[in-house]
Amino acid sequence: MKVRVDPELCQGHTLCNMIAPQVFELDEIDGHSRVVDEDVPAGERARVAEAVRSCPERAISTF
Ligand code: SF4
Repeated sequence: MKVRVDPELCQGHTLCNMIAPQVFELDEIDGHSRVVDEDVPAGERARVAEAVRSCPERAISTF
């Protein structure tokens, strides 16, 4: 599983980072999210799936 955050859609709500802090890191200035590594470790898949469901902007996608 791979994951990405669309920087055009992300509005910096921080939910993804609260759900999966090992996967999503937040920009110190604007709070926007980016993935630490697009390859999701097996142990993080459930949290990433929850982050996808929880993102209000639907900015997170998996492939
Ligand atoms: S939950 Fe969505 S909008 Fe909020 S920081 Fe994460 S990717 Fe961006």
